Amino acid sequence: MDYQEIIEEVYHELLQMPVKGKLADYIPELASVDPNQFGVCLVDKNGEEFQCGDSLQPFSIQSISKVHTLVLAYSQVGVDLWKRVNVEPSGNPFNNLAQLEYENGIPRNPFINSGALVTTDTVMSLYPNAKEEIKQFISNVSGEESIVVNENVKRSELACASRNYAVAHMLKSYGNLQREVDDLMEVYTDHCAIEMNCYQLAKSFLYLANHGHNIYTDTQILDRGLTKRINALMLTCGFYDEAGEFAFRVGLAGKSGVGGGVVAVLPGEFSIAVYSPPLNRKGNPRKALYFLEMLTTKLGISLF
Ligand code: GLN
Repeated sequence: MDYQEIIEEVYHELLQMPVKGKLADYIPELASVDPNQFGVCLVDKNGEEFQCGDSLQPFSIQSISKVHTLVLAYSQVGVDLWKRVNVEPSGNPFNNLAQLEYENGIPRNPFINSGALVTTDTVMSLYPNAKEEIKQFISNVSGEESIVVNENVKRSELACASRNYAVAHMLKSYGNLQREVDDLMEVYTDHCAIEMNCYQLAKSFLYLANHGHNIYTDTQILDRGLTKRINALMLTCGFYDEAGEFAFRVGLAGKSGVGGGVVAVLPGEFSIAVYSPPLNRKGNPRKALYFLEMLTTKLGISLF
């Protein structure tokens, strides 16, 4: 199917939309990005790509990286991972602390910050050089030669990460953290500060649309069963306390990041990345959600 025309149609309709929303200024370096940037790239199951706007503009992937760390951890550890992190929607903001306390240090799911700290901790236990391993994994699944971290964004987040430090200490106090908090925060902020563009990002999620098969290396990253579970988690938990609304409006499995990116997959069909930095009140990229809602509505296809 030729997606180019419909992508351009939705893109141009949304270009008129006033730029509302707030940049992720709790990470100071992200407060200075141009809020008008807007890009899209859809890659179909065979790897054919359809792009529009600022699709080659690199941006901070932030929480989208949590999917990659989850897959790395889950593919090695298997079901034992679920002893340390749950698979339920949280109904709370991504950086919530209270729920972790009253649920005895077991994060609700791997996509809120506490859950991603646990999967990052798991990856660190598996690999001596976890930072490189994560980048290597993303490079492998996306068919891209090198994956880069924006050191300014990383330093900027680390300097203002009191809440994530608090979450990590809480996990430690419940015995749900093997590494030291400082070492963990170093690796966590490193993968959040990875920069990619829409084209690279859409490619890096394509195996999740292809039942675990990576077309760039012709290898199976996850079997069909595990792929189903990752996609189910993206559908139910990928947008924090707005996951229900994303399923309701868009109907794809996806993941957002406070850097302005959203990636979504329709298994058996395509992977798509949309970039627009201003965030709504739930911390999800506002215009990117509209884009995906309009796209699935016009196409008449979704998970449902
Ligand atoms: N690095 C960010 C944080 O920990 C990621 C949050 C996000 O993208 N939702 O706050």
